[in-house]
Amino acid sequence: MATLEERYRSKYPGSVQLYDEGQSLFAGGMTHQERFVRPFPIYMNHADGPFKYDVDGNEIVDFVMGHGSLLMGHNPPAVAEAVRDQLLKGTHLGGASTHELRYARAVKDLMPSVDRVRFTNSGTESTYLAIRLARAFTGKDKILKFRGQFHGWHDSVIPESGQSSGGVPQSALGDTVVSPVDTRDADRILTADKDIAAVIVEANGANGGVFPLQNPTFLQELREVTSRHGVVFIMDEVITGFRLSRGGAQSRWGVEPDLTTMAKIMAGGQAGGGVGGKAEIMDLMGYRDDPEWDSVHRVAQAGTYNAQPVVAVAGTAALEAVATGDFNTGADAAALRLKNGLNEAFIKNEVTGHAHGISSIVQLNLGADCDCDRGLCDMPYEEIHRTMPVEKRDTLRRAMLVNGVDMPGGRKFYVSSAHDDDVVDRAIEAFDKSLKELRMEGVV
Ligand code: PLP
Repeated sequence: MATLEERYRSKYPGSVQLYDEGQSLFAGGMTHQERFVRPFPIYMNHADGPFKYDVDGNEIVDFVMGHGSLLMGHNPPAVAEAVRDQLLKGTHLGGASTHELRYARAVKDLMPSVDRVRFTNSGTESTYLAIRLARAFTGKDKILKFRGQFHGWHDSVIPESGQSSGGVPQSALGDTVVSPVDTRDADRILTADKDIAAVIVEANGANGGVFPLQNPTFLQELREVTSRHGVVFIMDEVITGFRLSRGGAQSRWGVEPDLTTMAKIMAGGQAGGGVGGKAEIMDLMGYRDDPEWDSVHRVAQAGTYNAQPVVAVAGTAALEAVATGDFNTGADAAALRLKNGLNEAFIKNEVTGHAHGISSIVQLNLGADCDCDRGLCDMPYEEIHRTMPVEKRDTLRRAMLVNGVDMPGGRKFYVSSAHDDDVVDRAIEAFDKSLKELRMEGVV
């Protein structure tokens, strides 16, 4: 019988050729490290609802979902119509627009911690701006982040983020203090080091919750610790915003950060993001009719495409849809069905492992089980690392693609409201087959 790799190659022949071409065009052969699958990535053509279609015409059930940005699936009508209309009315108006007012209101309506908002073009820009604001507000340089957590690819957030640090200056690395994922450690660090401006945290744990925060009161404790030490609390809701609840992780767990970083769902599948938070911090970006303030101390943010009208209308349509509550409820229900089905497949195939996760993100631990409630998994950080090495994740992702399903990094699923019961059941069946195939290949 053909090996998994042979079947992968024969199912996706068009992508083999395109990858050859891509290698001579792109640095590293790819445009995003997460899109790479060994031995070659799949080249997509178009997408609709829960599906995407590759250059060979294969229909793939998609759980990458725009790296977590598509809560309503591909091309939800309200967003698609808003974008189509705006494209013909101007993609850049070179001035302020009513679109950005409505967009900001849609953010504020869902996140009461946001007094003021500034738009950016990505999650990376959002965390970059939030950290700059915190430094200006406190007059301090350092930031504290948590082990394993990812906040984009700018210099300050690289340490212990799973990213290599080639080209990052030592000065930037030195200004970032990394804490174990424990509020007592963060408290100890903040007690000893008085030059820390901000604490930044991925609101559901490292890597979009692959390493969950475990402790449901973590964010509340961190709020208390940061207030006590007078440092800015930045909640990174790039993944969790408008997903863990309509108002993100902060509404779900009743915690009010000083600043929130957003992107993904917020921009309705377009390239956009934002920072929102307390007026006293955000207003450091404003002019004051004081030449010294305006030209020396003010927090500057430029950006040709900030609140670009196509992004603004897409984001507004997405957030107004989120406000109805229906899409979050639908995505959460689909994720629960998926999680239960994956756990049944583990038992049926007598393979050690489990699926866990909250809201509409489902995480996989292949090769290790525990007694968690399948919500916030409490398996230790090291154990999760150990059980999901990159080779195993790659093989699982390949097996799932052979069976017509794509999942980010071979370890999680971003579930949308477009994943109906039939589609979810298709994914569970694909997982069941993949487990059998992994066993045949000696991976589990
Ligand atoms: N913060 C978190 C928690 C993320 O997961 C990501 C990206 O996945 C980012 C920031 C960076 O966002 P972007 O890829 O839009 O720059």
